Amino acid sequence: MNDLMSKIVSLCKRRGFIFQSSEIYGGLNSCYDYGPLGTILKNSVKSHWMNAMTREHTNILPLDSSILMHPKIWEASGHVSNFSDPLVDCKTCKARFRADKLESSACGQKPSKKPTECGGELTEPRQFNLMFKTFMGPLEDSSAVIFLRPETAQGIYVNFLNVMTSCRQQIPFGIAQIGKAFRNEITPGNFVFRMREFEQMEMQYFVHESHSFEEFERWKQARIDWHIGMGLRKERLRFHQHGPKELAHYAKAAFDIEYEFPFGWQEIEGVHHRSDFDLKQHEKFAGKKLSVRDPVSNEAFVPNVIETSVGCDRATLTLLIDAYHEEKIVEEGKEETRVVLKFSPKIAPFTASVFPLMKKDPMSSKAEAIFKELNRIWPCDFDASGSIGKRYRRVDEIGTPFAVTVDYESDSVTVRHRDSMKQERVSDSGLIAYLKNELKNAGAEE
Ligand code: ATP
Repeated sequence: MNDLMSKIVSLCKRRGFIFQSSEIYGGLNSCYDYGPLGTILKNSVKSHWMNAMTREHTNILPLDSSILMHPKIWEASGHVSNFSDPLVDCKTCKARFRADKLESSACGQKPSKKPTECGGELTEPRQFNLMFKTFMGPLEDSSAVIFLRPETAQGIYVNFLNVMTSCRQQIPFGIAQIGKAFRNEITPGNFVFRMREFEQMEMQYFVHESHSFEEFERWKQARIDWHIGMGLRKERLRFHQHGPKELAHYAKAAFDIEYEFPFGWQEIEGVHHRSDFDLKQHEKFAGKKLSVRDPVSNEAFVPNVIETSVGCDRATLTLLIDAYHEEKIVEEGKEETRVVLKFSPKIAPFTASVFPLMKKDPMSSKAEAIFKELNRIWPCDFDASGSIGKRYRRVDEIGTPFAVTVDYESDSVTVRHRDSMKQERVSDSGLIAYLKNELKNAGAEE
């Protein structure tokens, strides 16, 4: 693994962001568990996404559909016949690769080389379906086969009319959903970038065909702006347009939003113009009408769908990578390397950490009172152990923007800023207003 990725994986474990799944049993390849800090960070990503969808648009509604769905859904969607990747094996080292991702794969024996660069020969590609199968009920026969959903979108399409009629919507409107998806990936890897169990945040916008390209352009821009608003560096984001070979036969246009990972430019989100394919397929397979009527012209039509689909884990990983900094600093005459996650304050797991100067001093009850007050407004942390220097290292590594040290000097505290390391004395009574103002200047508070 690339040096920067190894450092991030190790920080994630050390500070409780992300752990290998089933670690004490030797780990389960391609599955990860989010620790306390990772859970807070990922939940924050999810709530920012859901708010950007449903609170900023009165015509986008949330949904939480089931993971297990009628097996015919996956026939209608094309997943049973087409959701496969081309699999090739190296005849020398027996490693498996996706034939369409050889450029970003590493040889099984010589990781510095790409497959075949070591002289190994690859087998002919075979199609491998990525859906996980299981059985529903006590019988394990073909009539009981059911799939773990490989995407959340189909749960939205099959509930399209339920949402529209129950919530009195008219076209255009959207449905937003966050949930687990499962893919039996041939080559999982790069930490939480490609997993077999992951989470997606998907929004399907139902629109009349005549406005569909306009909406497509609007969502393309809105989605890249969202990533920038979460704190990602603009220059590490770009669009990749699907060419004729990549574009699904039913799609009218598709763009990926790509991020420059330490292992190269890779997709984090897809924005797709899916035509009326999905709803028409479900009409056909379910034998139910999914057309709507224009209230003015009275025309009956099946809406087109503009989809925005982003991996929650990939979005969280981009935030960790983008925030990671190593800086040389001089402390007590010694040069040291400080590791700091420079998260935007709006997504940092904690906004402030409160430090009593000494563990057992009378000030700690004052520090606790300050902590409780701040914690009612923002997620905060209380740290009473170790030297102040060690506590600073900890808050830097988890990306907490402010450290508030409560000392003996009567009515004031010291606020230390994560990025500049600047320290300021602030009166107890002015602390909340001070932090509010700092957060406002950083774009994290209204
Ligand atoms: P890739 O080409 O990387 O396999 P994809 O084109 O199959 O991705 P989509 O089906 O468009 O991906 O899924 C939408 C989003 O879901 C992706 O942009 C990505 O962020 C996320 N995603 C897809 N597969 C995985 C996975 N195995 N692990 C983590 N996230 C994933």
